[in-house]
Amino acid sequence: MTDPVSDSQSFDVIILGAGGAGMMCAIEAAKRGRRVAVLDHSTKIGRKILISGGGRCNFTNVNANPTAYYSNNPHFCKSALSRFTPDRFIAMVEGFQIPFHEKKLGQLFCDGSAQNIVDLLVSGCTEAGVEFVLDTQIHSVRKPEGSVTFAVDTSRGVYAADSVVIATGGLSIPKVGATGFGYELARRFGIALVPTVPALDGFVFAEKEAADLKEMAGVSADTIVTCNDVSFRENILFTHAGLSGPAILQASLYWNPGNTVTINLLPETPLLPWLLEKKKQAARTELKNLISELLPRRITERFIELHLDSALLQIPLTQMPEKPLEEFCAKIHAWTFVPKSTVGYSKAEVTRGGVNTDELSSKTMESKKVPGLYFIGEVVDVTGRLGGYNYQWAWASGWASGQYV
Ligand SMILES: Cc1cc2nc3c(=O)[nH]c(=O)nc-3n(C[C@H](O)[C@H](O)[C@H](O)COP(=O)(O)OP(=O)(O)OC[C@H]3O[C@@H](n4cnc5c(N)ncnc54)[C@H](O)[C@@H]3O)c2cc1C
Repeated sequence: MTDPVSDSQSFDVIILGAGGAGMMCAIEAAKRGRRVAVLDHSTKIGRKILISGGGRCNFTNVNANPTAYYSNNPHFCKSALSRFTPDRFIAMVEGFQIPFHEKKLGQLFCDGSAQNIVDLLVSGCTEAGVEFVLDTQIHSVRKPEGSVTFAVDTSRGVYAADSVVIATGGLSIPKVGATGFGYELARRFGIALVPTVPALDGFVFAEKEAADLKEMAGVSADTIVTCNDVSFRENILFTHAGLSGPAILQASLYWNPGNTVTINLLPETPLLPWLLEKKKQAARTELKNLISELLPRRITERFIELHLDSALLQIPLTQMPEKPLEEFCAKIHAWTFVPKSTVGYSKAEVTRGGVNTDELSSKTMESKKVPGLYFIGEVVDVTGRLGGYNYQWAWASGWASGQYV
């Protein structure tokens, strides 16, 4: 049975999700002369872009390369990333005369507002003739038996197209419209998923650290955080329940429940030789004052309380035995703990996992099982590090699919 679809709801390509990936795909497909509609349940376009990068959208990273991405198949992202490189998006940004700057580590941000990036994409869509259908609930996507055309059942009736692109993103930040729609749809079509978890997220302390460190909220330090042999040199921030800050968010991408996290609280200066030198100089200063020259005082004081026998603190540094000093310094350079969890989707910047890349063509993003069905952006099991990598994946995968839909 065929569905009654009006001409006005019949397209070559229907894209579900008006985020970065969906709009990039729409621009490219429409430039090829395809009739394209972008459907979204939100009343507003690109809501996640607007909150990204603290409102300035870290829209790419000049160093984007496959090693910055986490996936069951680390090779999958290579093809799209090599065809749509950061300079191609930078050229679009420059062409639209958006002022931008590099903040650090190759991360490019708008000087003004993330709205500039939304305007760039919407303008590209409008120029190419893309139709936006917002404030629309998607009930289901079907491919009637023997048909090459998909039927998309919505609160505005049935839409039809031979190509349907799923660009509905991940689960992070439900309050700006994130849903698990793309994962449910993949499941219904028998497409395998890699389990999803919140990532680029803070850690929640287990009971012991929560009790030991509850007074530390608000303290930050430049550190090296290591998880599963991957290390990041950036800031950490103690929160009321655990740890946040860029180095923690990065480490969370590599963390699985039960894994330890190791933090070098003093990456710049090897503490033991520094203290032994002070000892030789017969320094009279109290240990905590000495160490506070190198580390935030609140970290110094708390770690001394927790990790040095209080009796030793009465002894001048010149007489302090070397063994406990050595153990204390080891703690400062390799503080190890097992987080209870990450904070969760209400705060996480991304969802790790998603549509299994074995199910997709890395060239076109099309499903191998369901011809005409495409998955792009965050819904796919390709997750970038913090720093503009996730948008670069959204642009690259959107661009790649846009050449074929
Ligand atoms: C706070 C925050 C800050 C971030 N900052 C950065 C940054 O600066 N740089 C960076 O690279 N990455 C950043 N990220 C990650 C980045 O935003 C995402 O990886 C990226 O937006 C994914 O793009 P997407 O197009 O795949 O999905 P999204 O941008 O999430 O778009 C999905 C679209 O699908 C729609 N949708 C969802 N469910 C349904 C449904 N059931 N029916 C209809 N429509 C639906 C949504 O309304 C949305 O418009 C940040 C994320 C967060 C949460």
